[in-house]
Amino acid sequence: MIGPRVAAHARRLPPPALPAYVYDLAALDRHARAVRAELPERAELHYAAKANPAPEILRTLAPHVDGFEVSSGGELAHVRRTVPGAPLAFGGPGKTEAELRLALELGAERLRVESAHEFRLLASLARTPVDVLLRVNLPLPDGHGEHAALAMGGRPAPFGLDPDDAASCLRRPGRHRVRFRGVHAHLAGGLDAVALAAVARHVTGWAAEFAGRHGVGLAEVNAGGGMAVDYARPHARFDWAAYGHGLRRVLSAHRGLTLRVEPGRSLAAYCGWYVTDVLDVKHSRGEAFAVLRGGTHHMRTPAAKGHDHPFAVLPAEGWARPWPRPAAHREPVTLVGQLCTPRDVFARRVPVDALRAGDRVAFALAGAYAWNISHHDFLMHPPPTFHYLS
Ligand SMILES: *Cc1c(COP(=O)(O)O)cnc(C)c1O
Repeated sequence: MIGPRVAAHARRLPPPALPAYVYDLAALDRHARAVRAELPERAELHYAAKANPAPEILRTLAPHVDGFEVSSGGELAHVRRTVPGAPLAFGGPGKTEAELRLALELGAERLRVESAHEFRLLASLARTPVDVLLRVNLPLPDGHGEHAALAMGGRPAPFGLDPDDAASCLRRPGRHRVRFRGVHAHLAGGLDAVALAAVARHVTGWAAEFAGRHGVGLAEVNAGGGMAVDYARPHARFDWAAYGHGLRRVLSAHRGLTLRVEPGRSLAAYCGWYVTDVLDVKHSRGEAFAVLRGGTHHMRTPAAKGHDHPFAVLPAEGWARPWPRPAAHREPVTLVGQLCTPRDVFARRVPVDALRAGDRVAFALAGAYAWNISHHDFLMHPPPTFHYLS
């Protein structure tokens, strides 16, 4: 599963450079181009920067996306600096007054209102009219909630407005300065293409009905991100062709509408690898443990999601010490890091052919929600090094 370029680089890194994050920017470029090609012309593709805001990732994606979705003042300033001129959409709960001022000052092309208070605050700050999307909390279409890894819509949540509160924003005095442009709904994460296209159809149908009922024009619907990345099947990819087909059908039913999607994980996950080496292999009460340099303070993904993270073993020959090389052979191994907590686990009881002290391990799908969601300073181990292969 690991490509030859990344594998060669991972093998060449000297031990002091480990652990390392290795990003294949050429693969990211190809992937983003392929995703874009499957989407209809009237669909806009934004990248959700929170998945991985590294400048190299943003710059590689920039030619393939219509803009970036940012969720804080920090991301707003960072993305503006890194890819000047790219359109920015600013969302997220709990925007501060300073963040809203910054968004107005930097000219974020789209703001997303998440509450009635935020609508009023924005109306009080805007000197000239701003276009907004109202983020609404809608139920998922029937039968889709139970398949989502992360269902947020239709249940009590800090995200977005209940439909009645969205309606009341349209009647507020500030509505001439905070102008309704459309609806945003990011309702679930981890859905497959057919389910997610059904969500886009459902959200668009609701938005058209809502706008019609209140006599306002609907220019744009943002159907969110959440395209599935399957950590149990690292070769599988979200079916962008099927999703694009579904979006085309939605658009043909709503002439003049712009439909925007904003994936994060499904764009960035595949290009990144967390590479390290095995410090020790031991057996504890009959079970094998491989202790790796680094840990979930560098890559929190398996701890956050509670999964076994997929990996490739890069065998390293040669053992210079006068005692036998610690090893596990043809047995299940639990891969852990250096942290003094039982939660520092990358993968549990995964069968391996051989895993020995000194071998290298490359964790796949580490390009999104990996380094940037991790608790780097816990235990004060050295940080990883970063490598961007272009
Ligand atoms: C996190 C987030 C996304 C991206 O989600 P992915 O699962 O990474 O595709 C998109 N939109 C909003 C509003 C988000 O909060």
